[in-house]
Amino acid sequence: MQALEQLVGQARDLADGGIGLSDKEAEVGRIMKICNACRYCEGFCAVFPAMTRRLEFGKADIHYLANLCHNCGACLHACQYAPPHDFAVNVPQAMARVRGETYASYAWPQAFGGLYKNNGLTVALALAGSLALFLVLALNFAGGIAHAPLSGNFYAIFPHDTLALLFGAVFAYAVLALGLGVRKFWREVSPGSFSGAATAEAAGDVLQLKYLDGGHGMGCNNADDAFTLLRRRFHHFTFYGFMLCFAATCVATLYHYLFGLHAPYALGSLPVLLGSVGGIGLLIGPAGLFWLNFKRHPLHGDAEQKPMDRGFIALLFLTSLTGLLLLALRDGPAMGLLLAIHLGVVMALFLTLPYGKFAHGVFRTAALLKWSIEKRLPNNLQLGSE
Ligand code: SF4
Ligand code: SF4
Repeated sequence: MQALEQLVGQARDLADGGIGLSDKEAEVGRIMKICNACRYCEGFCAVFPAMTRRLEFGKADIHYLANLCHNCGACLHACQYAPPHDFAVNVPQAMARVRGETYASYAWPQAFGGLYKNNGLTVALALAGSLALFLVLALNFAGGIAHAPLSGNFYAIFPHDTLALLFGAVFAYAVLALGLGVRKFWREVSPGSFSGAATAEAAGDVLQLKYLDGGHGMGCNNADDAFTLLRRRFHHFTFYGFMLCFAATCVATLYHYLFGLHAPYALGSLPVLLGSVGGIGLLIGPAGLFWLNFKRHPLHGDAEQKPMDRGFIALLFLTSLTGLLLLALRDGPAMGLLLAIHLGVVMALFLTLPYGKFAHGVFRTAALLKWSIEKRLPNNLQLGSE
């Protein structure tokens, strides 16, 4: 106990001294020093074994550990030093606050880092609404919103090449911005070389969302200290729904450019099947995550980031909802209107992608890969076990 109190004292010094850290980073440094002495939560997730490889926590270490944390809440409810204890150890909240700083400080271009703070639910809905309205008005000027049934031929309303150029350019920018941001992060935290085994393990951890199981397989804490696998399940619906919709777009692009098969595609075709199944997943997942977000224990996360979380979830849900409605009614006279609304929502999603909640998946994947590499390296401290 005496050793722990000494470490707590040192941790306070670290927090007070700052040594180039922000307040939020210094708080993670303080807490990690306490956890490093306690180590009760060592088996919960990758954060704690990664922590035991360090005695000091510099800026890069703190951002790495923060993004390795999946915010499952398990270590808060297990912690004997959690508030109202004087040590006030709240790992998930401290990590969540630093993750917000990760997104902003590694943003590309750097000047756009502040957009993460503004990318909330109101902005997401206002942007989607404005873009949809703009397209509806454009449609109206071009010949009227209502039209004779067009057998689902979207390109009779908006030309294929215009859509491909516009959406392709915005999506490519999102990939570039996120890619350059995570490259900067990786360079600062990179511990060593890739190996096939490390990469495969990290990919498995990402695809399974392994660390949303709370370390015991029973799941996260959400509203209270009860375990639930719902957060993991709804993330899976969202992730795989998104990937299936992306696959549908890729297959349709191949059909168009490689095989000369142009939309509209039949209901039983591969692009429509992939898009439909993905779209259903992208309704269930975001709806569930939205519900869990509202019920979340206030000590788990960073309240300041909730608008950003909800904005992203809402855009995913609306993208899927408008896409499925468009598919269902594509043979009718309202297809143009539904298409304009759907395209407005998708454009809002793409525009907010590089400066919104989507970033958490990219930085967490990089942190998991680093952990898979790091755990294969000798632990020079020899103070803990994995
Ligand atoms: S969160 Fe609490 S119980 Fe867990 S290792 Fe840290 S100090 Fe110990
Ligand atoms: S909240 Fe969960 S994932 Fe994050 S450090 Fe605690 S146990 Fe690990």
